[in-house]
Amino acid sequence: MNIDVVRIHFKDSHGDDEYSYKYLPFQYCCEYLKNCPVISFGTECNTIVDDDGYLNETDVELPHFSISWDEPIPYEDDTWSYYSKITHCPFCGASININVVKEEDMTSQYATMNKLRDSKNEIRRKTDSLKEKDKLNEEIRELDEKINGLWNFGEYNVE
Ligand SMILES: [Zn+2]
Repeated sequence: MNIDVVRIHFKDSHGDDEYSYKYLPFQYCCEYLKNCPVISFGTECNTIVDDDGYLNETDVELPHFSISWDEPIPYEDDTWSYYSKITHCPFCGASININVVKEEDMTSQYATMNKLRDSKNEIRRKTDSLKEKDKLNEEIRELDEKINGLWNFGEYNVE
């Protein structure tokens, strides 16, 4: 099973390099993997059991398929989700290959969107008109969606 992903590059407000991934439409190797509720495709932290048997979390660069399970957090009324990367489909045995097919530089778009957001925010702060405030709120909300969309893992939109 081959999955093509696009790497998005931009710089955050501190000037540090940031990357996110978008996947292109792909075919699952089999229906079992597609419908398996505990296996997901994403960028969640991978979990590795080290030599001492402790679970370590490591940042995984590339999107991947992982099996997830929940374990209770000691002394807390809550659970923690663990993700363990798989490289083969556990149902049909197909190997899972993730290929970065291209990198897109969105640095200037990201900076422009943030600048626009700041200036709209500034106008909103100064205006006394409620109607104007509502309009700006809506515009800022739309911008936030676009900005978050850059950070988040998801399907690649061909525009
Ligand atoms: Zn399969």
